[in-house]
Amino acid sequence: MSDIPQIMLNNGTAMPQLGLGVWQISDSDMPVVVETALDSGYRSFDTAAIYGNEASLGRALRTSGIARSELFVTTKLWNDRQGEQSALQAFDESLERLGLDYVDLYLIHWPHPAANKYVETWTAFEAIHRDGRARAIGVSNFHAPHLERLLAKATIVPAINQIELHPGLQQADLRAVDAAHAIATESWSPLARGDLGHETLARIAGKHRKSAAQIVLRWHVEQGLIVIPRSRNPARIRENAAIFDFALDAEDMAAIAALDAHRRVGPDPETF
Ligand code: NDP
Repeated sequence: MSDIPQIMLNNGTAMPQLGLGVWQISDSDMPVVVETALDSGYRSFDTAAIYGNEASLGRALRTSGIARSELFVTTKLWNDRQGEQSALQAFDESLERLGLDYVDLYLIHWPHPAANKYVETWTAFEAIHRDGRARAIGVSNFHAPHLERLLAKATIVPAINQIELHPGLQQADLRAVDAAHAIATESWSPLARGDLGHETLARIAGKHRKSAAQIVLRWHVEQGLIVIPRSRNPARIRENAAIFDFALDAEDMAAIAALDAHRRVGPDPETF
């Protein structure tokens, strides 16, 4: 059985703290990627309508024979489908492509402030959750003002805010806002897209006989963050899950804290 801990979300849904991100995983790679991940203990998978691979992910999960109740599937609403009616329709289409009758987590992918529709979109999300078709609902890439506007109208507080977060972009302020509302923070691009060459990481990796990627993932986990590293490489999929048999010490944590450069590898939510 898996040694991946569960995080209790604010609505009582349990979510594995480590999952597999499947952005850019092709339909042809998906079967091996999913099989390797399941064999390594992963049960949580993070896709999105815009990734174009909901269907191949759903197929690979069904083929695995793992009970649906053991899996945790996240997908996301793309920007051009925001709005109450269009979000309801886009959700139906995602479920259809996944071949599921519910998802575990449905996220508004970006606030996309230029469209100014995320508050009405949330009304659709609340209906989807009340219908039992998403066990939890949340947001992604929301900054504090986006969250405050949403919360002023919401009857359900988002369970998750999935944001870019890695040693080069540690997001202390936004994490504090999430925590103040009992919103769990989930780190996307937790490995900074593979930019792991810093000498501090190499030193800590040598000390623990782990890889730099494992050090960074352990750093996320020890702070209570949910992580979804992506890899298409079976050895790395396994490596990224082997982070529950060691611990970083206070000195390691302080050294990684010093790597914060407020530097994004992805788009800025204010303008995207
Ligand atoms: P990650 O930070 O997970 O990095 C992925 C890259 O790191 C790949 O190039 C991979 O290469 C490499 N890598 C993985 N494991 C290792 C390892 N052990 N050692 C060395 N290199 C490694 O980037 P992502 O941007 O994919 O973020 C993760 C997930 O977050 C996405 O897949 C997606 O699900 C989600 N996401 C959400 C966003 C949002 O707006 N909500 C935006 C972006 C991502 P290789 O495949 O060759 O191993």
